[in-house]
Amino acid sequence: MTPLAPVAPVTRLAPPLSGSPGEVATGTTLAALTAAVAAQTGFHGPAGTVGSTGAPQALVDTLKDHLVSLQMPGSLEVVDEVLAQLDGGALSPTAAMERLLAAQVALRRQRRLTAAIHAARLPALKTLDTFDFAFQPSIDRGQVLNLHELGFVARKENVILLGPAGVGKTHLALSLLVTAAQHGRRVYYTTLADLVLSLVEAERLGRLRERLALLKAPAVLLVDEIGYLPVTPGGANLFFQLVNARYERASTILTSNKSFKDWGAIFGDAVVAAALLDRLLHHCHIVNIKGNSYRLRHYPGLALPDDPPPSPRRGRPRKSPPQEVPERHVG
Ligand code: ADP
Ligand code: MG
Repeated sequence: MTPLAPVAPVTRLAPPLSGSPGEVATGTTLAALTAAVAAQTGFHGPAGTVGSTGAPQALVDTLKDHLVSLQMPGSLEVVDEVLAQLDGGALSPTAAMERLLAAQVALRRQRRLTAAIHAARLPALKTLDTFDFAFQPSIDRGQVLNLHELGFVARKENVILLGPAGVGKTHLALSLLVTAAQHGRRVYYTTLADLVLSLVEAERLGRLRERLALLKAPAVLLVDEIGYLPVTPGGANLFFQLVNARYERASTILTSNKSFKDWGAIFGDAVVAAALLDRLLHHCHIVNIKGNSYRLRHYPGLALPDDPPPSPRRGRPRKSPPQEVPERHVG
């Protein structure tokens, strides 16, 4: 997929395993690995002796050889600790095996998640842990927590977050994306402006079908910032094609600083905007945020202008734009 936005460095989501993950490249020699493990554990006993774990050292070395052959750096990292706990009676043999494999599973999950989040081109890593609900009392916390259970993804429903600038729309939308990625779902982030640009470019190159197919694939697509920039001519139609392709097949999350009645102006075409909203709102959860900008929380008395007026319409609207829908779940 063509890069659409710069990617912020991805930080770890789950607590890291103790010490470094101990990357094992396919070509790594056993000697180098043994040395690395020895350096990490401080154990340098020669083969044939009884190691600090009580198991014959040759057997421990063979066990580590197997972990290297099977490319299990997560298990390799904890094997000495697990053996020590096993010998000390702190772990049963079954629990020791479980601990050894769990370390590998955790590392693999962590790597997959990092890769997925990187591929999704998230502009920042936001989660619910850092969201201050007390600052934004208009938000129905229960609704947001419920959305994080991802039922809407399973049911292929949409989520639209509405509200003025700085109230946390993108934060919450990104948090949903991260949660979906943590659950192994494919996710992708884009702004509406970048998305339309990429669709227009794909059409110009005769690759619209491929581009639409790619954008149809993620289980959750976040289209951020609807309303900040007017959609370029032809863009509304292309965006509609994407929304139509994803309709009842995959979830789309959208954020907008404009109410639905302004979408005709944003898309430069009231008919297309109505058709868009018809698809988007059929199975949709609306999170309507009314409050102050978190960015400007240290300037409570600051008088800000209202939202900028919508940009001049392109073409005469052929019918009145869609009306506002109820704030909560529709359909
Ligand atoms: P919007 O998309 O509504 O314009 P953002 O989600 O981008 O706003 O929020 C602006 C900044 O403020 C981001 O850094 C976001 O993490 C932070 N932020 C917004 N609301 C909250 C909140 N209630 N608690 C913690 N951080 C918040
Ligand atoms: Mg935003």
